[in-house]
Amino acid sequence: MNVGIIGLGLIGGSLALDLRARGHYVWGISRNPDTCETAIAIEAVDAASHDAMAIATLRPADIVVLCTPLDAILPVLAAIAPHLQQHSPAAIVTDVGSVKAAIVAGGQALWPRFAGSHPMAGTEQSGIHAAISDLFRDRLCAVVPHADAAVTAAVKTLWESVGATVCECDAEAHDRAVATISHLPVVVSASLILTGDRIPDPQIRQLAQGLASSGFRDTSRVGGGNPELGRLMAEGNRTHLLAAIDAYRLTLDELRDAIYAGRWTELQTLLQLARDARAAFVE
Ligand code: NAP
Repeated sequence: MNVGIIGLGLIGGSLALDLRARGHYVWGISRNPDTCETAIAIEAVDAASHDAMAIATLRPADIVVLCTPLDAILPVLAAIAPHLQQHSPAAIVTDVGSVKAAIVAGGQALWPRFAGSHPMAGTEQSGIHAAISDLFRDRLCAVVPHADAAVTAAVKTLWESVGATVCECDAEAHDRAVATISHLPVVVSASLILTGDRIPDPQIRQLAQGLASSGFRDTSRVGGGNPELGRLMAEGNRTHLLAAIDAYRLTLDELRDAIYAGRWTELQTLLQLARDARAAFVE
């Protein structure tokens, strides 16, 4: 299979590494010429260019995966669509963006054989140097089904080939669900870090930094990630993220009120509910 990857960063570079390792011909397009050189040097791609027009000189793609930051996905598709039409008219296009409703609607308007996807995998790193093999192994990948079952099947096969388990879901439902389990954690984790950093007493802050261990490392991980991705995610999923933040504040207040009033049995019950519910989310 010939695969085109646009945006050779953490996700695009990692996907390219895995696909190429499985014998596919992979070409890439990325904004920065150095990124393209690095992608070739680490053998993530067979060919790469910073020029979208280069599609004309690359092998016709069976599938193209848009792996740029969220705000570039539709502009990039708009820019390459005429070249794809000419050189890979049968190509299926997908993306990896963490918000789906607007991208699927816009993507299908630009390229009818577009089906959105979102691999639930990542690290705090970004860029081609962060690309790693097997990033998607044993991870879930949301795929928004296309009206043409063959398009959906091709996108599912792509993700399954790199070890992911596909979960088909409607774009709107996806955005509502990830608002709570993916986007809200970034906001909560960032506010936790900022709260620690804003401890007013410098000596206590320094002591807190010195004592912070695995618990703080775990809970602060997603809040310490790429700020640009976090902003784009909030912009792209604003309505559902605001609803999730409001629901979270209510729950936080419930816990706070129990502590304030010394209702320790109620607090323990809430913590027990959280402990029991955690298994359904993470196991
Ligand atoms: P990233 O490491 O920053 O990679 C994105 C790459 O896209 C950049 O390295 C940049 O490459 C390239 N790029 C930017 N604008 C471009 C343009 N106009 N044309 C071509 N290439 C362009 O980010 P990422 O973490 O891989 O995220 C990429 C996408 O994956 C986002 O849409 C995000 O929502 C989604 N996603 C991320 C995660 C995660 O945890 N990180 C998880 C799931 C999905 P240059 O070096 O060439 O500038």
